[in-house]
Amino acid sequence: MSNQKAAQPMTEPVYTRAPYWQDVPDAQWMDWRWQMANRLNTVDELGKVINLTDSEKRALSAKGLFRVDITPYFASLIDPDDPSCPVRLQVIPTDREMVPFASMMEDSLAEDKHSPVPGLVHRYPDRVLMLVTTQCASYCRYCTRSRIVGDPTQTFSRKEFDAQIEYIEKTPQIRDVLLSGGDPMVLAPKLLDMILARLRAIPHVEIIRIGSRVPVFLPMRVTPEFCDMVSKYHPFWMNIHVNHHKEITPELAAAADRLTRAGVPLGNQSVLLAGINDSVHLQRRLVQDLVKIRVRPYYLYQCDLVEGSGHLRTSVSKGIEIIEGLRGHTSGYSVPTYVVDAPGGGGKIPVQPNYVISQSPGKVVLRNFEGFITTYTEPLDYDPDMIKHQEALVAPRPEPGQEGVLGLLEGQKMFIEPAGFSDVHARGGAEHRLRSGELAHKWQPLGVGSINPDPLKLAEPAPADENGSDNNDDA
Ligand code: SF4
Repeated sequence: MSNQKAAQPMTEPVYTRAPYWQDVPDAQWMDWRWQMANRLNTVDELGKVINLTDSEKRALSAKGLFRVDITPYFASLIDPDDPSCPVRLQVIPTDREMVPFASMMEDSLAEDKHSPVPGLVHRYPDRVLMLVTTQCASYCRYCTRSRIVGDPTQTFSRKEFDAQIEYIEKTPQIRDVLLSGGDPMVLAPKLLDMILARLRAIPHVEIIRIGSRVPVFLPMRVTPEFCDMVSKYHPFWMNIHVNHHKEITPELAAAADRLTRAGVPLGNQSVLLAGINDSVHLQRRLVQDLVKIRVRPYYLYQCDLVEGSGHLRTSVSKGIEIIEGLRGHTSGYSVPTYVVDAPGGGGKIPVQPNYVISQSPGKVVLRNFEGFITTYTEPLDYDPDMIKHQEALVAPRPEPGQEGVLGLLEGQKMFIEPAGFSDVHARGGAEHRLRSGELAHKWQPLGVGSINPDPLKLAEPAPADENGSDNNDDA
């Protein structure tokens, strides 16, 4: 049995309701299915709740624009008279969305290119992203996956779920599965339960996570039954998606409380958005309010180069300035990692202000958030090999082809070449007496890579056993 107080009815007072819905009975308002069935998406429907601008009306009537749907609950957070309301800008299109911009792409993170089976993105060594639906409770104007999200014809079939799960089953390096979409929390409860049960049955899957904006768009979906269901699959983590402190309502706080009492650790991912949250002071308020409801700020994303998002993008320097204004100025719990998700598909790249001013052998000069400059004296007798015997007790997980700079530091490689590097530098010339395949040993650094012995060991005399022979029993 879950430690969630499952018997409690969802009777928290309703604070967040636009006048248009004042007569809706509380039980209906707090019913997530009613909220989904009564979403707004046309000029007429939205015009009953919000004073739409001409630009918004044009965009809402345009053909081929990314889907619009807004739950009555989330629409109630919008200031009906303020076209620059930060909640409004996230979900109501303007005609600026139709303006193309340099470098925009349909699939800017090359997710579909990096999917071994439809809907499964295997980008990092030990984890996968599993897209389980293309549907959401409401639709964000900057959505990275607008190429498929909102389009029911693009949604994933049972056969594709099977292929995703089979890939995970046969790939033991995957220890962490993140369910996303679309939003997994709008799936039929039984279907989500079935997917989680199948993942939990895979012995090498240690962690299951969900990325969901439902607690923000539709907090009433976080029912006691939902919390009981996910608590069967621990360790189960969740990242929600709040961009502005206006979204942190009593309803969201109550939903977060239900989840954390069910043992689900909560993080937040937000996207840095022009005119919405591109301010040190607003971000500080956001992250502090998140921590108050026990949600740890996890990532702050640079807005992707995705079609339709041009007017919501900021410079990267704005993100660095925001981290400068958070780190040290508020608790470390409140500081997210600011990342640029690499266009073309390289994954998240953390970006932050530089706190290391200079270095010499034995000294590092650092600065703090106030500009105080200090020196850390490093030990000159530090032995990084002392840990090796402990390290040998932990089996390394394979990272084929993805060792990166760590591989250079650990001596697996001496350099990383871009594809075609050697051919470019051969300059079209033929092999000759100084440059041929047979001479490849000339460029093999001693002690680097698994086929090369450690040069220090080469320099040591081989230990002898009692019989005077060497102790290499393998021969
Ligand atoms: S909730 Fe997520 S997947 Fe859905 S529209 Fe927003 S960003 Fe896209």
